[in-house]
Amino acid sequence: MAREEESTGRSWKTSRLDALRSEINSCRLCGLCNGRTNAVAGEGPEDARIFLLGEAPGAEEDRTGRPFVGRAGRILEDCLSSAGLERGQVFITNTVKCRPAKNRPPSSEEVKLCRKYLDAQLGIVKPSVIVTLGRVPLGLFIRSKRLGREPFRWDGYMVVPAYHPAAALHGIPNVRSSLTESLKLARSLSENGSSAITE
Ligand code: SF4
Repeated sequence: MAREEESTGRSWKTSRLDALRSEINSCRLCGLCNGRTNAVAGEGPEDARIFLLGEAPGAEEDRTGRPFVGRAGRILEDCLSSAGLERGQVFITNTVKCRPAKNRPPSSEEVKLCRKYLDAQLGIVKPSVIVTLGRVPLGLFIRSKRLGREPFRWDGYMVVPAYHPAAALHGIPNVRSSLTESLKLARSLSENGSSAITE
């Protein structure tokens, strides 16, 4: 056991996630830092098997510094519950950690600049399944322009494409049932693995 862990009782993962959070809170790598109230690093167990990746913080997230706490967050929690999961079991973050003005999608340059924090979080938590919530996070893992719904493998992770819960607020039908099914699949893959999904 490392000396710091012996003295504090904190795991190396917790220490690294906390250090990363501090780095994100003071980050000025892209212009999104200018409009933020709080950066939203993300939250969840240090050893979560399921990693939920959304697009960007919204107004409520910017105000509180926590991911998915607005109306979309409540839909996400309902769907997690219907899938037999609790929010506290999963790690939740976004492709960019600061809120774009008027909830516009983050630019590819902003996503690219913020990517190092996501990669660091994945490297610490080491989940088995990444659930992409919407098109922006899915675009990080596929090169083709065709955004399918089938799970696939990426760099040792199983990736499950899913709707962003906010789509339910925009009148897109069946978002809740589809998201719930995606989360059920993520749960099954995290518990059992699968050799049947696409490379
Ligand atoms: S969005 Fe990411 S890269 Fe841009 S300022 Fe915030 S933490 Fe830094």
